[in-house]
Amino acid sequence: MTDIQATDFEALDRLEAEEKAKTPSKKVNLLGLSPKKMDEFFEGLGEKKFRTQQMLKWIHQIGESDFDKMTNMSKAMRTKLAEVAEISLPEIVMDKTSVDGTRKWVMKMPGGSSIETVYIPEKERGTLCISSQIGCALDCSFCSTGKQGFNRDLSVAEIIGQLFVASQSLDTPGEKRVRRITNVVMMGMGEPLLNFDNVVDSMELMLNDFAYSLSKRRVTLSTSGVVPMMDKLGDLADVSLAVSLHAGNDKLRDVLVPINKKYPIKELIAATNRYLAKLPDRRKATIEYTMMKDVNDSTQDAEEIAEVLKNTPCKINLIPFNPFPNSGYERPSNNRVYRFRDLLHERGFIVTIRSTRGDDIDAACGQLVGQVEDRTRRQQKYIELHQVNDSDAV
Ligand code: SAH
Ligand code: SF4
Repeated sequence: MTDIQATDFEALDRLEAEEKAKTPSKKVNLLGLSPKKMDEFFEGLGEKKFRTQQMLKWIHQIGESDFDKMTNMSKAMRTKLAEVAEISLPEIVMDKTSVDGTRKWVMKMPGGSSIETVYIPEKERGTLCISSQIGCALDCSFCSTGKQGFNRDLSVAEIIGQLFVASQSLDTPGEKRVRRITNVVMMGMGEPLLNFDNVVDSMELMLNDFAYSLSKRRVTLSTSGVVPMMDKLGDLADVSLAVSLHAGNDKLRDVLVPINKKYPIKELIAATNRYLAKLPDRRKATIEYTMMKDVNDSTQDAEEIAEVLKNTPCKINLIPFNPFPNSGYERPSNNRVYRFRDLLHERGFIVTIRSTRGDDIDAACGQLVGQVEDRTRRQQKYIELHQVNDSDAV
């Protein structure tokens, strides 16, 4: 026990500070406020709404997290902000760039779990792939995230924090901003439609002119087919939609994507068509099709999905399976993938094949996170062991 004299104010202050550091902050994290919620926040402080635009710019465009440096706010305002709010950023635990330019960040979230974010540069665009949950409850049989199970939803601050970190690393800040991130896809860990409110708020920040000002055509939400939520999304947002199909018949899709048992292919395609019909422009859905050797890569499979998609404006993206230990699946040969593409071409579809990028930094679905979490778990065990030893000594 620490022995403190009644007059030892310094020690008391120190202890108070230590205690404070142990309890989670009750301050509002402004990083995670959508424009609407930021309006409400400033209204609550008796401030005008234009503060929202100023604050969004400071955080998301300039990357400033210190209120004292926000020079267009009065000293009194900055003091008030520091009392009730904070700008708390994700902790980067890994930042690696592949020889092909693909870059990957692993960020640690409160509670110790990690999430990954990948940037894929191409000739005409730069795409950031972000996560919406830690793990995933939907348990698709070929997905390493699904195999990890569900841990928890990411908060808005944690979702938009991924774009914040990438943008701070890649874009040139200030008035003459050079934008290297032109596209965002919600194709990292998790099912975005099962973290609906936080994902919608995050997408509002992505599109907002004072934050990331991305085009709604270039923000894509990928879903494995949570049908009611697809309808709800269509009522609230007009971002681009990607649908993970992976099979042209329910028998196979039930195995690959278990949520198919609840919302079978016919319902999924009808929901996709409804979503497209609500968009203000003529946009196509992206149909994702992960190809697994001898599972869904035959001529008959191509014919089935051509039939399923015949009335849906779409482009098909073939994703050769990314292997992971004990998955039980294999990647088909390139020839097999090309043949599948050609069959769909012949039936009038636009088809692309997703190239494998960032192999040297394990930028494929879920792999790097696995390594980091293993290490974290080992560290945890080590700490627990030491605590046992310490208490033994008392
Ligand atoms: N939950 C959403 C978004 C995240 S998954 C969804 O399922 O759409 C993003 C994409 O990666 C999905 O199309 C998914 O099927 C695909 N994917 C998952 N594991 C994969 C693997 N091992 N190899 C190739 N694609 C995979
Ligand atoms: Fe979840 Fe998507 Fe993986 Fe399926 S493919 S388990 S929905 S992250």
